[in-house]
Amino acid sequence: MDFMEIHARDARHVANTYARFPVAIVRGQNARCWDESGKAYIDLTSGIGVNSLGYADPAWADAVAAQLHTLQHTSNLIHTLPCVEVAETLCARTGMRKVFFSNSGAESNEGAIKCARKYGRQSHGPACHKIVTLDQSFHGRTVTTLAATGQASFHHQFGPFTEGFAYAPPGDIEKTLAMLDENTCAVMIELVQGEGGVIPLDAAYVKALAEACQARDILLIIDEVQTGIGRAGTLFAFEQYGIQPDIVTCAKGLGGGLPFGAVLFGEKCADVLGPGDHGTTFGGNPAVSAGAKVVLARLDDAFLREVGKKGAHARARLLRMPRVTAVDGLGFMLGASLAGLAARDVVLAGIRNGVLTLTAKDRLRLLPPLTIPWDDLDEALNRVEKALKEVAA
Ligand SMILES: *Cc1c(COP(=O)(O)O)cnc(C)c1O
Repeated sequence: MDFMEIHARDARHVANTYARFPVAIVRGQNARCWDESGKAYIDLTSGIGVNSLGYADPAWADAVAAQLHTLQHTSNLIHTLPCVEVAETLCARTGMRKVFFSNSGAESNEGAIKCARKYGRQSHGPACHKIVTLDQSFHGRTVTTLAATGQASFHHQFGPFTEGFAYAPPGDIEKTLAMLDENTCAVMIELVQGEGGVIPLDAAYVKALAEACQARDILLIIDEVQTGIGRAGTLFAFEQYGIQPDIVTCAKGLGGGLPFGAVLFGEKCADVLGPGDHGTTFGGNPAVSAGAKVVLARLDDAFLREVGKKGAHARARLLRMPRVTAVDGLGFMLGASLAGLAARDVVLAGIRNGVLTLTAKDRLRLLPPLTIPWDDLDEALNRVEKALKEVAA
């Protein structure tokens, strides 16, 4: 089947909610993939930070397949072991206490928001439900997580929104602290604003904010949906900021390509949500948990150090490329500012040259699979450089 036919059938019956790139991928292996015509690409997107072990990792696929042939799903009213093992690993490696499993980033953030509201109500009364998030943040597409998202462009079409969110300017500690009051139950932040343009928060700002939250019994929620699961070069980005959050949310990379999210609760709120308070039919099912076990086992210290090295290498190479004026990010989550070029044009030129990349606002964004071999990384960066030169010409 050729691309034009896939494109036409997609346009006829799939809702038109994505500005899709003109490419159809049919198979992949680690960082390499192929389109319907057999043309090869190197992937620097991981399916937006999802395929942490690349395409079709054999150990991951075998573990999921074996679980599918054994027991794919029961319900959350029945005990199963695989999700217990994922929860144990996540807690042991983060110092958090309990885990709620979800199916996506937005759903993880919904769980965090519900927990924070109940905590605020129980600890400080029913008026304590305000949550402060940051300008340029992104927390998801549900009505409540859109309300949490501090970008006006997301707020035009879909009101009325969930009340109780206020947006602070990232990096401005005085203005942020001025927004915290006796009715604030939580602060929710990304440590590197992903969809906002790959903008890392200043470490001193985060530390001061964490201390203020602690002192005033305001929960600190870190949205690690994009930064978590090795992306930042550590299992979670918060480890690099010297803070211990009250709640951490994750999703994208956790399932290695299957829909899987988690809300990690710290000591203060480990038992805030009780039976009947929250739930989801698919959350933590054995099949997705089997995949996550393989992902987490692969992400040991040596593996994560290598992710950090590859990220530093990619950053240094990007900085030497034409029209690249700055590169920000953490680990293998990189955003490049381009002088006088539209990032989408560079992505399109990349596709022509056999490399898949992303945009974030007006920046070129790279989220390579954490397992990308060094020679594939270098070849992919050569192709990015070629794409930049073509668009600049
Ligand atoms: C992608 C993302 C989300 C939303 O995740 P979905 O799985 O698309 O619901 C939330 N927060 C951050 C930081 C993200 O990058």
